[in-house]
Amino acid sequence: MADNLSTYRAKRDFKKMGEPSGEVKASNRWRFVIQKHDATRLHYDLRLELDGVFKSWAVTKGPSLDPHDKRLAVEVEDHPLDYGDFEGTIPEGQYGGGTVMLWDRGYWEPEGNKTPEEALAKGDFKFTLKGNRLHGSFVLVRMRYDRDGGKRTNWLLIKHRDEAAVEENGAAVLDDNDTSVASGRTMEAIAAGKGKKPKPFMLEGGVVEAGAIWDSNHGLAAEEREAGTKTVVKAQATKKKPAVAQRAKSEMRTGLRSTSGRTVGGQNI
Ligand code: MN
Repeated sequence: MADNLSTYRAKRDFKKMGEPSGEVKASNRWRFVIQKHDATRLHYDLRLELDGVFKSWAVTKGPSLDPHDKRLAVEVEDHPLDYGDFEGTIPEGQYGGGTVMLWDRGYWEPEGNKTPEEALAKGDFKFTLKGNRLHGSFVLVRMRYDRDGGKRTNWLLIKHRDEAAVEENGAAVLDDNDTSVASGRTMEAIAAGKGKKPKPFMLEGGVVEAGAIWDSNHGLAAEEREAGTKTVVKAQATKKKPAVAQRAKSEMRTGLRSTSGRTVGGQNI
């Protein structure tokens, strides 16, 4: 797990304008966030904290509370924990370009006897969400085959029957909650960089400005690359840091190469 974020870094050249500041708070409970992401296509990114990173899935239609619904959840690369406080815009043309809203967040717990790592490896991962908007038991089931010849790993996100389940209109929870859980803003306000700042959840003393931009093409990383200091930057990034927060932070400031918005299965996720 030394390099859980290598794929994440490889897709981006980090420098953030309006980046979250502060340290990721220690927690004895696993946290989750769901970010509503209006990229090439609108989707909801489910991120579950595990082993110092966010395990992440792009849920194309968003979660449903109806156990009859099986929602496609495309596995994406692990994300750093401080990204869990990000709300704002990613410039068009960059990976994931579009508007990002913090749609839900809270804590999660694994179900059953297996460790979360074992359950994920088996492709049958049951967990309970205790969020502001989503509650109760869900399962992520890995699909054995996918239509794209294995280029991506597809899972299905399914609600289990419990008090939080509904029998119909399982997506109503999405429409009924169309503002940020962190700032109360609409997608339009976030896209315009207006309104309240999001309240941090992951970061101690963190501040994300109302007009935050997650920009990986300009600034520190690009300047360092141009100056030919990549090796030095790389050495710094891998220097021993005691806390996950420190590591995630340095990784985000020292992207190693640039990428253009890579699309997965025709969708920029
Ligand atoms: Mn996304």
